[in-house]
This record gives sequence, structure tokens and C-alpha cells, in this order.
Amino acid sequence: MAAELTTAIVLRTIEFSETSLVVHLLTRDFGQLAALAKGARRPKSSFEGSLDLLAVCRVVLIRKSSDALDLLTEAKLQRRFRGAEKSLQRLYAGYYVAEMLRLLTDNHDPHPALYDAAIDALGQIDGTGNPAATLLGFEAAALRLLGHAPTTRQCADCGNTVPRDRRMPFAPIAGGVVCPQCRSRQVSIVNVAVATVEQLEQLLAPHTRQPVTVSASVYAELRGLLNRYIQAILGTMPRMQPFLPARMEPDA
Ligand SMILES: [Zn+2]
Repeated sequence: MAAELTTAIVLRTIEFSETSLVVHLLTRDFGQLAALAKGARRPKSSFEGSLDLLAVCRVVLIRKSSDALDLLTEAKLQRRFRGAEKSLQRLYAGYYVAEMLRLLTDNHDPHPALYDAAIDALGQIDGTGNPAATLLGFEAAALRLLGHAPTTRQCADCGNTVPRDRRMPFAPIAGGVVCPQCRSRQVSIVNVAVATVEQLEQLLAPHTRQPVTVSASVYAELRGLLNRYIQAILGTMPRMQPFLPARMEPDA
């Protein structure tokens, strides 16, 4: 099989043998995949320490057709993730991005725009961006690009326009805001301020780019809402979710 060249974010590494690693990558051109990096644990390997969590690399892969692991033959470091050097909050934010990418995307299903959004978010997180706001912007972009965007105007159940009251019922399992007629049918409802729904709508807009701005007064409610919505989509709670910022520090 021919070798293929792409860029990738390292999402996870697992020790495979004395000398090798299995590396989970989000590649820009081939989506998520797991590849065997032979000899990567040797002190003087050709990977030269490029396979750290959240590192961005130029990689050469030999793709395997069946369920077998792809083979990683080369990885050249483009950018190392330095969140850990700055704060625990930035480190956890980075871990959360990696976990979201692993849980939300399928193997060999490329989403170049999501890859680019992740690169932008990681740049903010290990740079000077606000990690709490950056994550909300990244999650909104990921949900939109993967076809999981919650409804903010139309009832997620019947499709009618939902009146903009001071607080609006949001049904995570149905997939967004719901109208008064459908409300009683929902398994679970979160009542959120209209300002929170409007902030979410802004973050979901296709033209939104990092760095995003999020109003501190709606942050906690929006964080809680997205937590529940993402749990509903995944059917499980992401491991890093309890470590996300509960409040938005002006300068985290
Ligand atoms: Zn309805």
C-alpha cells in the first residue's frame, strides 16, 4: 500500500511492546485512526519525541484496509502542546479537546474543518486565549460541523417556532429548545435564560472563529447546558467533563 502524507493531532498513546506505541491520531485528511509506531519508545527513534499528547505532527502513514492498525512510519513535530507549563486549567482544557475529538468522530471519517477548529482551539488554550470561552466555541463548532447542533429557535420535537420567553425549556435528548405544547412529553428539561440560548446561537453560527467572546453572566448556565447536551449525544459523561471551568475567570 502506498504511503500517505497528512497532518495529525495526537489524541492518545498506548504502550504496545517494549519498544512500540499505538497512537490514536486525528488526521486532517483521513479522520481518526489508530496506528502502530514501531520503535517509538526507543531512546533514539525516528519519531524523536514527536508523539506526545496533543502534539501536532506531519505524518507518513501506511494505511491498512481491514481492521488492522495503520502503520506510522514518520512523524515530524510541528507544534508541541504547552498547556501544562501554564496552568492546570489549560492542561485539562487540552485533555478535554482530545477526549471530545476521540468520542465525537469515527475512524476514517475525515472532517478537515473540525480538525482546523481543534487546531485553533489548542492554539488559544496553550496561548493567551480564555480556556473556558475557547472550549465553548470549540464544542459549538464541533457540534455544528458533525451535524449535532441543538435547535435554538425551532422546537426540537415538532419544528414550530418556540416563543422567546425570559426562560426557555431545553430538552437535551430531543435536541434543543421545545415549545409549550411539546414540553410535557420530554424526558428531561433544562430551563435556561433566553440570554444563554442567544449566546449558544451565536457560538453555533458558521462564521464564528476563535477567539470567541462569552458573557461571564451566562457562562455557568451555558457550561451546564452543554455538559448535559453532550452527555445526551454520547450516552455517557466524558471523563474530563467534571474538570471543566465552573466559572469564567476574566484572565485564566
Ligand atoms: Zn413542539
